Parts: sequence; structure tokens; C-alpha cells
Amino acid sequence: MSEFDYDLFTIGAGSGGVRASRVAASHGAKVAVAEEFRVGGTCVIRGCVPKKMLVYGAHFAEDLEDAQQFGWELGECQFNWKKLRDNVLADVDRLNGLYRQTLENNAVEIINERAVLTGPHEITLSSGRTVTARHILIAVGAHPHVPQCPGHEHGITSNEAFHLDAIPKRMLIAGAGYIANEFAGIFHQFGSKVTLINRSDQLLRGYDESLRDRLLQISLMKGIEFRFNADFRGIEKNDDGSLRVSMTNHDDIDVDCVLFATGRLPNTRGLGLETAGVEVDARGAVKVDRFSKTNIDHIYAVGDVTDRVQLTPVAIREGQAFADTVFGNKPTSVSYDCIPSAVFSHPPLASVGMTEGEARDKLGTIKVYQSDFRPMKNVVAGRNERGLYKMICEGENERVVGLHMIGPDAAEIMQGAAIAVKAGLTKADFDATVAIHPTMAEELVLMK
Ligand code: NDP
Repeated sequence: MSEFDYDLFTIGAGSGGVRASRVAASHGAKVAVAEEFRVGGTCVIRGCVPKKMLVYGAHFAEDLEDAQQFGWELGECQFNWKKLRDNVLADVDRLNGLYRQTLENNAVEIINERAVLTGPHEITLSSGRTVTARHILIAVGAHPHVPQCPGHEHGITSNEAFHLDAIPKRMLIAGAGYIANEFAGIFHQFGSKVTLINRSDQLLRGYDESLRDRLLQISLMKGIEFRFNADFRGIEKNDDGSLRVSMTNHDDIDVDCVLFATGRLPNTRGLGLETAGVEVDARGAVKVDRFSKTNIDHIYAVGDVTDRVQLTPVAIREGQAFADTVFGNKPTSVSYDCIPSAVFSHPPLASVGMTEGEARDKLGTIKVYQSDFRPMKNVVAGRNERGLYKMICEGENERVVGLHMIGPDAAEIMQGAAIAVKAGLTKADFDATVAIHPTMAEELVLMK
């Protein structure tokens, strides 16, 4: 008989927690996972998955417009938000069920309660029950950060955006990162007048400047408004129910909805980390080593709660590596090099490796190749939106150290190209590959 109730107790059934629990169980561990909300976590329940479905839904606005240039005569088209919303939420229910099933099929016990640490090996559930575990995994994710200005309670976050009763006529989005740009595209296509405001003078910090400029130009052309160097002062409710937003450096603006997309903070408050002696950083993120181990030998943490790279596939890898290390007798750490990423804006952009600026700072002499082109479909559609691909190469043999794209299907194209960059291939390797014609992706092997 073990001295503990479980070999592993995971707190949080999101992407990282589910993968870690399932794999640990397949290695023979007795595992329980506590989840206070729904199995699947941010990505499945209120993030990547439902967002991508809204992106698809939104894209029809332009597809239907473009279809007419391709000879389709369409009757009057109407968009029914409630229908899309309910279909998306129904699919989220389906996925939630599938995730539960996966855990159950792997003999992982699901406990639908909030869990907090009450001792080094002890966890107390909201029902008051106490359990013990040899190892504990913290995989509780993050939550949207909302700037604490007067009236901030009138705003919503991406969590609520999936449940709106109607598409707001005028929408203000605070922030200029992933969520802000993705939702700006979505709500704009659904007919909202979107204004995006950011505290600094740039959007999508961390992405290559050429891509950011191109997205800004295209978004402005579509009719999305941007206000930079604008810090929130406050939100007041008008008599007609609309919201008046005041900010620094710009006039007040009246809107029907304010969406905060100003970053996400680790969910560590009230988790009992102090009781167990687990260290966190200034933002509240759990500090871990390269094996996701905290300062306490048997307590680990994966995913957004560690604030390393807030991306689902990274959390999944961290969960897998943890389970293989601790229960599979195979020490594994995640490589954070060359992680491809995408922003599902309209149009989408995608990136892997170093930006031009980063490469110049770190590597000195580099060579940059670029293709600035109008996708064939946009020509017939009369859509004046150009795609941009950019390749950053290092050294004499021109190893590709960065690849950046904005244009239709950029994320889909990037996944394949990222393999080549991760493998350390050179410009000559790309060029030696015959183009698939006519495609946008062929620009990758034809760059000048
Ligand atoms: P981001 O970090 O992408 O962007 C945050 C934005 O909010 C920035 O423009 C930032 O401005 C601004 N901001 C940050 N703090 C404050 C503050 N205190 N007051 C005012 N403005 C502030 O965060 P998101 O919320 O968009 O997304 C959270 C994370 O979720 C992302 O970092 C990403 O890892 C993940 N995500 C990934 C997606 C994908 O893979 N497609 C989609 C959605 C989310 P400044 O530039 O000045 O710092």
C-alpha cells in the first residue's frame, strides 16, 4: 500500500494537465485531476478552438463579397450571430465530453472541484475532503488581465465574447496583441465598428516589423480604427446604456462594448502555494526548471501558469515531458527554440524563428529575402490586399533563422515551412525544392 492516495494529483484539466495526467496514467501511475470548471481548459472552452470557429464564420463576410467577382449571384445574405454562437458552443460541449472520455479511458479520476494545496503532499477540495499525492502538478492556466481603471467592470474579456447576446454596433478593444487583433478581425467582419486602443505605439510586439506594418495597413484599409499611446482613464455608462471611454492623448469615445485583451496572468492566487512553499515570480507565475520542477522536489508546473510561452501546443509538450520524466523513466525537457506561432487576424500572420530586428542584434550580418505579392484570388476578387513573406538568413551558407508571413492561409503554410527552419535548412535547400504552381506557398522557394 502506498502512503499516498495518488501517485499524481493534477490541479487543472486544461491542455497541459490533461496530457500530463493521461500519459502519467499510461505509465502506470494512479492519477486524479481536479477541475473547478470544465475539462479542456482555456484552449478548448474559451480560447483557440471557439475563436478559430468564429474566425471561419467571420471570413464568410469577405468570401461572399468576393464570390460575386467569381460569377456568383447571391440573394440577400444575412448573418445570424446567435446561430453561429450556439453552434460553436455546442461543439465546445462535444469537445469537453471527448476530453473527459480520454481521461476516463486512461483511468484518470476526474474530480469536479476546486483544489488547493494545504501541505507539501496534501490537497484540499472545495467539498472539504483532503487527499494526498506523491507528486503534484500545477496546471491551472491563466486569466485575462483587466486594467483597474474606474468603470472597468463595464468591460468584458475574451471569456465573455463567446456568449454575447448580439454583435455590438461599436466595439472598443483594449490591447494590440493576439486576442485584440484576432477579435478586431472577427467583430469587424460581423459588422461592428471596431476601435483598437493600445498603451504603446505598436501592435503585436515580438512579431517582425514588416508583418506588423502590413497588418496595420490592411486593417486600416478595411475600416478598423487604431489609437496608440492611449492609456485607459475610465469607462462610464451613458443613459442609453452605451459606454463612454476616456483615455490619455485621445478624445473620449462612445461604444456599445469594451473588450479587454491586455494580456493574461497566472491563476496562482489562493492556490495555497505559500503553504506548500512553492516559489512564484513577480507576475505570480510558478518558477520552474527545464523539467518543469518547482523549488519543491515533488511539485511541478506546466502551461500558462509558468508564463514561459503561453501557447497550447507548448503546454501539451510540457505536460508530456513532465509525465515521461517523472513516470516514464525518460528525462525529457522541451525545446523552446523555433516555436512557430500564428495570429488568426484578417489576414492571418505566422512566424518562426528570429525577426529581422532580433537577427541583426544577435547575429550581426544577415541576409533578408522577401516576396511582396498579391494573391491570385485577390486579383480577380478586386481585393487590394498584398501578402508578404520574409526570410532571414545567417552566415555564408545562408541558414534560415527566421520566416515570417502574412497573407491567406499563412498559419497552414507556416506549419510545414517551420519544419525546415527547425531542421536548420538553408536558402539553397528551399530553392532546390520545385515550386507547386500556382500557389501562394511557392513564394517560399522563389524568394529574391
Ligand atoms: P498579448 O500579450 O498578446 O498582448 C497584450 C496587449 O495588451 C499588448 O498590446 C500590450 O501592450 C497590452 N497590455 C499589456 N498589459 C497592459 C496593461 N497593464 N494596460 C494596458 N495594456 C496592456 O496578450 P493577449 O491578451 O492578446 O493574449 C494573451 C496570450 O494568449 C498571448 O500572449 C498568447 O500567448 C496567447 N494567445 C495566443 C493565440 C494564438 O496562438 N493565435 C491567440 C490568443 C492568445 P504592449 O504592446 O504595450 O505591451
